[in-house]
Amino acid sequence: MSTGINNVTVVGTGPAGLTAAIYAARAGLDPVIYAGLQHGGQLTTTTDIENFPGFENGISGPKLMADMTAQAERVGTKVIYEEITKVDFSSSPLKMWSDEKEIISHSVIIATGATAKTLGIKDEDVLMGKGVSTCATCDGFFYKNKKVAIVGGGDSAMEEATYLAKLCSEVYLIHRRDHFRASKIMLERAQKTSNIKFMLPYSTSELLHDKTGLTGIKVTNLETNETETLDVDGFFMAIGHQPNSKIFEPYVDLDEHGYIIPHNYTETKTPGVFVAGDIADPTFKQAITAAGMGCQAAIQATKYLENNEL
Ligand code: NAP
Repeated sequence: MSTGINNVTVVGTGPAGLTAAIYAARAGLDPVIYAGLQHGGQLTTTTDIENFPGFENGISGPKLMADMTAQAERVGTKVIYEEITKVDFSSSPLKMWSDEKEIISHSVIIATGATAKTLGIKDEDVLMGKGVSTCATCDGFFYKNKKVAIVGGGDSAMEEATYLAKLCSEVYLIHRRDHFRASKIMLERAQKTSNIKFMLPYSTSELLHDKTGLTGIKVTNLETNETETLDVDGFFMAIGHQPNSKIFEPYVDLDEHGYIIPHNYTETKTPGVFVAGDIADPTFKQAITAAGMGCQAAIQATKYLENNEL
């Protein structure tokens, strides 16, 4: 059943989607935003955020996202707590579905983000933000002068290990092979850093914790099968991200990892369809860069509607 035609429909309620909604609402476009399965996006899995400007003493991830949502609603956004599961952007107006309900819109801003991959070891979910993290840039600061471990053998792991080494007393880099996906230059930079200790080939078998959070990890040498305990306060997973782009595939250009490639700032190859945030950003992956792109997408969507007299 049709619900009328929206001017702008935003898909995803992370910093990119909510910023897009705030700008679209203030342009008088009555945007509708779909929250999906994880309202607030990746920031809802972090504790303190100290690098988002405007909060002298930092702010918790869930609080920042709750405030952004309230701000978007106050300026005129309709938030719908449903997931868009199917789209048809082959003709204008654009069509989407949440379950069986059809949504029709003159423009769409895709802001569905990317999900950090995790190892799937016991208790990693409950320890997320309490010693376990998927973002060194976000959480490394909390482990100043402490020992941490990071898992992965790609550029992200090398970059994040090098970043952590500047803050932490010791960084264990755990990788399941003795070969790396990382580029030579980033691998060499990590190898030359004196407080990064490479553990190869190793896997992480257990997260040790008490009531306050992580107290250490158990790792297994994959050649000898011997297990040892590392007394670390922080455990970072840098094993890649999965961009949530599947349902949009026919209507956007994707890179080899599934990230949407934007054109002319936030446009896609489909007129009226714009993109913002981590789904189009394998490089920076920060809340502030996502928010900035959300602003750009809303302004470009506004111009698109004006130019097409929609
Ligand atoms: P990636 O290249 O896919 O590397 C993921 C790493 O995690 C691999 O070493 C992989 O091991 C390991 N891994 C995956 N699943 C695992 C599991 N279940 N258990 C243990 N280890 C696991 O991902 P990425 O490092 O995030 O990089 C993604 C893309 O972004 C790349 O194209 C990269 O070049 C780019 N990037 C560039 C920069 C930069 O230039 N500044 C920085 C970051 C990322 P295996 O090797 O054994 O499969």
